[in-house]
Amino acid sequence: MMAEEGGPVDIDGSIMEGGGQILRICTALSCLLGTRVRVAKIRAGRSTPGLRPQHLSGLETVRDLCAGQLDNAAVGSTEISFTPGRIKGGSLTADTRTAGSVCLLLQVSLPCVLFAETPSELIFKGGTNAEMAPQIDYTTMVFKPIAEHFSFKLDCDIRKRGYYPRGGGEILVRASPVKYLMPINLTDRGSVTKIYGRAFVAGVLPYKMVKDMISAAVRCIRRELRDLYVNIQGVQESGDKAVGNGSGIIIVAETSTGCLFAGSSLGRKGVPSDRVGAEAAEILLRNLRHGGCVDEYLQDQLIIFMALADGVSRIKTGPLTLHTQTAIHFVELLTKARFTVTKCEEPGTDSFIIECQGIGLHNKNV
Ligand code: ATP
Repeated sequence: MMAEEGGPVDIDGSIMEGGGQILRICTALSCLLGTRVRVAKIRAGRSTPGLRPQHLSGLETVRDLCAGQLDNAAVGSTEISFTPGRIKGGSLTADTRTAGSVCLLLQVSLPCVLFAETPSELIFKGGTNAEMAPQIDYTTMVFKPIAEHFSFKLDCDIRKRGYYPRGGGEILVRASPVKYLMPINLTDRGSVTKIYGRAFVAGVLPYKMVKDMISAAVRCIRRELRDLYVNIQGVQESGDKAVGNGSGIIIVAETSTGCLFAGSSLGRKGVPSDRVGAEAAEILLRNLRHGGCVDEYLQDQLIIFMALADGVSRIKTGPLTLHTQTAIHFVELLTKARFTVTKCEEPGTDSFIIECQGIGLHNKNV
């Protein structure tokens, strides 16, 4: 940690995964711990280095939640400094003004609002179903129910959906402060009991795309899981609930012990809808094979909560993603939380236990 006496902690935003996730984890922890940070080389290896609108909105949201000071933050900035204040919470609106993901705005602000003085009501505007981010349906169907095991309640109302390139989606998120987070134990995988999901089209796109996504996904899943009924709901988004054109699918598998896994995909130009459906199914199947209790995306999203929880959390996962390794690296840099990763020796699995002694952050306002 390169901090002079009283100076900020210096963060190199280009190492490991090198993306926006480093910025989100470091500013959220800065806000929670009252530590000043300076993040340099932001997204240095990406084709458009520096802050994108979604990252900037996320930083501004955290700044506004805690009346902090954010320096040098503009689209394209490759270095920012953040000095946090007290986390007041309350109502605010953040708008990426693009199709930047509202789910990533939630990702950076949720840990902060859980330790605020008052309940928060956050309106996030942008893309609800965007590439390289959780689709909002992933956030509500997978992230929320599992993250709530840390003993908080997250309310998420999808007011309008928005897609690339226009954005225009809107969600309303409500969360109340907690005294502390309970540790979680997700190590008993159980067996898959249910598979369900949602495939959609919005705007001028034909409903046939939904049918093609669903039938390809079901065909693909049946090849590996013959006896399970696959219930994917087809949806034509209504005009007043969606902006622009979009299509996509999410498929969730639930196990007898309450584990949730998902595969999802979005329609893009030149890609037939049956390919989109099969892609989502293949991601889901890949995540059911390793024997872990979370999918490859939930892994990294749980790390910050494990670090903040009061006690030892354990999750069984598939091979660690670079996002997860990066999250662990920066969380350990900024907090006293300590993680260990152990390979499981069970035959026929490729699974690991991530264990974390959390710091037991307590909210003095609750
Ligand atoms: P960059 O553009 O620099 O990569 P970013 O802020 O857009 O930055 P990442 O740093 O890559 O994005 O972080 C993306 C986050 O979205 C991670 O938490 C990842 O787990 C999550 N994510 C990505 N794709 C999916 C998906 N298909 N389902 C669920 N979550 C996803």
